[in-house]
Amino acid sequence: KVRVRFAPSPTGYLHLGGLRTALYNFIFAKKHKGAFILRIEDTDQTRKVEGATEALQTDLEWAGIEIHEGPNIGGPFGPYLQSERLSLYREHVNTLLNNRSAYHCFCTDRRLQLLKREAVKAQEIPKYDNKCRHLSQEDVQRRMNRGESSCIRFKISDKEESFHDLIYGDISYNISLNEGDPVIMKSDGYPTYHFANVVDDHLMEISHVLRGVEWQISTTKHLLLYRAFGWNPPQYGHLPLLMNPDGTKLSKRQGDIKISSYRENHIFPLALLNFIVNSGGGFEKDQERHLKPKCYTIQELSNQFNLSKINSHSGKLMADRLLEFNNLELKRQFENKDLRIHLIDETKTLARKYLANRADKDSPPLSDEFIEKVLEWSLNRISYLPDLFSSNFAFIWSLPQTYSLVDENVANVLPSLKTELLHLEEVDKEKINVLLKEISKNHSVKYNVFMKSLRSILSDLKEGPSVAEMIEILGKEDTIKRLDLCLN
Ligand code: GLU
Repeated sequence: KVRVRFAPSPTGYLHLGGLRTALYNFIFAKKHKGAFILRIEDTDQTRKVEGATEALQTDLEWAGIEIHEGPNIGGPFGPYLQSERLSLYREHVNTLLNNRSAYHCFCTDRRLQLLKREAVKAQEIPKYDNKCRHLSQEDVQRRMNRGESSCIRFKISDKEESFHDLIYGDISYNISLNEGDPVIMKSDGYPTYHFANVVDDHLMEISHVLRGVEWQISTTKHLLLYRAFGWNPPQYGHLPLLMNPDGTKLSKRQGDIKISSYRENHIFPLALLNFIVNSGGGFEKDQERHLKPKCYTIQELSNQFNLSKINSHSGKLMADRLLEFNNLELKRQFENKDLRIHLIDETKTLARKYLANRADKDSPPLSDEFIEKVLEWSLNRISYLPDLFSSNFAFIWSLPQTYSLVDENVANVLPSLKTELLHLEEVDKEKINVLLKEISKNHSVKYNVFMKSLRSILSDLKEGPSVAEMIEILGKEDTIKRLDLCLN
């Protein structure tokens, strides 16, 4: 049975890289009718950020990633917070002490620092010299009895270890070249990441570990731990780095990669999900996807998911693609009756907020029909809902503050425009175009002068949608109201 997990440390907020890891795990589980588990790796109490665990869950929920087992909903393999599993780690450390795969280390911080300093001086890689590996049982007992503080270290092999990475292929690595025996339990009784991660993946019966490639060099260490326990390891697949368009690493310090900031900016969750997997591969019919971009639902993403198609080179995130996906998602939602209702509500909320900050007395009726018309009209013009409230679209929501007639003669034409409009049964842009041309001809006002003036009367914009389109979107009444304002 497929069981995968997302195992963030609550040291900050969910960012794009983390969301991508969670998503790949989730759609993999969904595809194989398996389980997606959220495990919070909070054993490093010094780096823990208050509220981060809750915020992570809010962000995942917003993104549509369903947690099957986790801290909030529980499950048969809980607890899902590592800080609540300390006794399990102690028990398992004892197993390794008993089978001599691990040992007590009494080296002081001072000694470790001296080792480091000497290595730096000699231009060598600083690493622990495994001194306490060789202590006799009696020595250890004696020092423990004396109350000396100790941590537990794991004996790593000095040979090259290999494994098959589901994404990168065969990987070989000799950890002992870069580090000494790693600490698996600190003197305060807290496990380190490597140890808790392995114990939990085993106890939670994780079948596949899909995580960022920055963890790939830790995998051989993890495999040695599995061997020391006599356990079968899960399969591993590492996900390539996500990069900025210029090839630099996405940094958590850039505020805009925080998931919550996309939510606050009214980016649709599906647009964000499509955006982050778009550059990384992992789906069938890759070429087709590129030729005809579409905002796929989570169900579609999971149907098409194929782990072996994930790229092993870094993916670049092109910011403008996000807005493209958002526009595609806007259209998808508009086409679906149920989703359209939500979209209308969301737009109404934004419109109310927008109008509340303005002094207009004459705002349009925020009826469902009106908002629906505005949305339909805007599908090819905006990337995301707040665009509707940018200066280009302000005329929809409020009367222009001023206007200017290019030619005084235009004023003489306005009454006939008003009469004709009143007679028009259907206000659609084709009919209005015909009407505008006729009027300009019959009254001998230059068409472009007429248009410039009307554009100003209706919106006080110099460019933007065509006049006929403006009239269509404003509707008969509102257009006439604006004409009247300059007739009086
Ligand atoms: N706690 C690790 C992290 O913050 C988990 C890495 C893993 O998935 O093994 O990313």
